[in-house]
Amino acid sequence: MIDRSTIERILDAAQIVDVVQEFVPLKKRGVNYLGLCPFHNEKTPSFTVSPAKEIFKCFGCGKVGNSVNFVMEHEHLTYPEALKYLAKKYHIEVVEKELTQDEIDKQNERESLLVVSAYAARQFSENLFQSDEGISIGLTYFKERGFRQDTLKKFEAGYSFEKRDAFSKKAIDDGYKQDFLVKTGLSIQAEDRIFDRFSGRVMFPIHSLSGQVLGFGGRILKKDVKTAKYLNSPESEIYHKSRILYGMFQARKTITQEDRCYLVEGYTDVMSLHEANIENVVASSGTSLTQEQVRLIKRFTQNITILYDGDAAGIKASIRGIDLVLEEGMNVKIVLLPDGEDPDSYSKKVSNEEFTRFLKENETDFIRFKTQLLLSEADNDPVKKANLIKDIVKSIAVIPEAITRTVYIKECSVVLEVSEPILYNEVNKLQRQKNFQDRNKYPGPEDLPVPPPVIEKPVQPQVLKIYSEREIIRLLLKFGSFEFERRLNKDDGKEEMLSVADYIVNEITSDDLSFSDSVCAKIFVDFRFSVEHGLISGDKQFVKHEDPEISSLSADLLADSHELSRIWKDKQTFVETEEMKLKEIVGDAVLKFKSDKIMIIRKEIMVQLEEAVKANDIEKVLQLQKRYANLNVALGAISRKLGNRILL
Ligand SMILES: [Zn+2]
Repeated sequence: MIDRSTIERILDAAQIVDVVQEFVPLKKRGVNYLGLCPFHNEKTPSFTVSPAKEIFKCFGCGKVGNSVNFVMEHEHLTYPEALKYLAKKYHIEVVEKELTQDEIDKQNERESLLVVSAYAARQFSENLFQSDEGISIGLTYFKERGFRQDTLKKFEAGYSFEKRDAFSKKAIDDGYKQDFLVKTGLSIQAEDRIFDRFSGRVMFPIHSLSGQVLGFGGRILKKDVKTAKYLNSPESEIYHKSRILYGMFQARKTITQEDRCYLVEGYTDVMSLHEANIENVVASSGTSLTQEQVRLIKRFTQNITILYDGDAAGIKASIRGIDLVLEEGMNVKIVLLPDGEDPDSYSKKVSNEEFTRFLKENETDFIRFKTQLLLSEADNDPVKKANLIKDIVKSIAVIPEAITRTVYIKECSVVLEVSEPILYNEVNKLQRQKNFQDRNKYPGPEDLPVPPPVIEKPVQPQVLKIYSEREIIRLLLKFGSFEFERRLNKDDGKEEMLSVADYIVNEITSDDLSFSDSVCAKIFVDFRFSVEHGLISGDKQFVKHEDPEISSLSADLLADSHELSRIWKDKQTFVETEEMKLKEIVGDAVLKFKSDKIMIIRKEIMVQLEEAVKANDIEKVLQLQKRYANLNVALGAISRKLGNRILL
């Protein structure tokens, strides 16, 4: 039981963005954050986090709640477990009162299984590092394989004694219930006797995303025993192997940072890559990749690189599963290791630099890899070749992006010597079949339109001439109709042009920000109208505007007297250079505009804060302090984007 005041401290400390971000990459959208919902499968983000309201809400599946709810839902924890998780994250000491027998009995099974698993991991680790048997057998094995102690500790590697019931007996002596030992699969009950599942094995605990031990993999060390080399925990209330990737807990931060996930086969492959300074790596531990595992990776990155050892039969068997990854719209690359090497052996054979370079230089796109592989087998056998074409077409057809499909079709047409229209035809045929199948399912939430995120109206500043406002208007006047970027329309795969005006207007209106200078505001409203109605506003109409304030400001901004342009003596040079760096200039101007607005709002809050302090309104003070802190977070994010230039 956690006492009330501790609960309150935990709730106060938990920052929703901070909490969610540990599991879901978020992008700032105005005052809110947006990401792919972890609770349902979606391709377009509709999962919104509002730091101001301290809540998350998914517009796709409707899940909503605060930090604690998020942790409960995401990690499948009970309320007290979620609180303890947050307490640990924010270094808050939890003082629990002694549990009564009754309360212990009441704890649900899940929690008990987690407790037993954590205990087992500790025991196995102790065995490995502190017992004679563990050191002479287990640790020696790891050392012979070339593993460092810090890596073993990082992955909580362990050792299970050879004596057939050593672990089970000790656990029961230590007060753990036989029932839970059996349910986690750590112990096996045979009539009235109990045995250890993993005796005589080195142990690899398998963690949840938040680092809880859910299950184990164990490798036998004796050579003459007739048993599987690797053994895994059986499925249980807490361990579902199809939903878990080994190493995800240790990898997830780096996966986000590097925007790539390496996939290997075994536990030791993961550990070896960590030693080679590649930490964004997970293993499917022997099973072929499942859709749930692919989606787990997809929460952190769209890019996956699969490492294969040179065994052709093995490769052929496992590439079948990769269509699953393509289907999720992920970019799949393959690295084939030199003959006779696996990630573990090869990373140890060469230096870290060489290994990293090898991965970079030998990365091949999956469809290309598959085509080459099958082509080399087909020789000139026409039947084999026809099957091969069908096989490749199947992989291409599952790719959701039209443009990507087109690129592959073109390329394969050359490599396979089949005309493009024939390939198109085949791909379309498969897609029609798939659409037909899909129509028979009910539409998923990701098919529904996404309403705009909830936005808080900022306090309106009464302030004066702000440079960043004028710069925004200047860019609109001068470059409004210029191309900002080209992007693909998700619906029809066609390229569309986003103008500078489109970009600026979208950025500013979606954040619900406004101009404090009334003339700037008028010009902006005009541009917004144009953008919303697909018109183009030219600079001339403003210079000649009937409102003298508008015409003079426009003229002023477009004239050479403008601050920025003074840097350049020759007008021609200036315009050319600015045009060339237009995207950067516009992007920075928008960020500066936003940061100015935030600072104005911050000042407003300071004034209100003083008033609240005077009025002794504690609740208001806390609320304002929180808002102030959130604004600082937003400001920090902007300044990082601006390349750490100081804004204050
Ligand atoms: Zn959702």
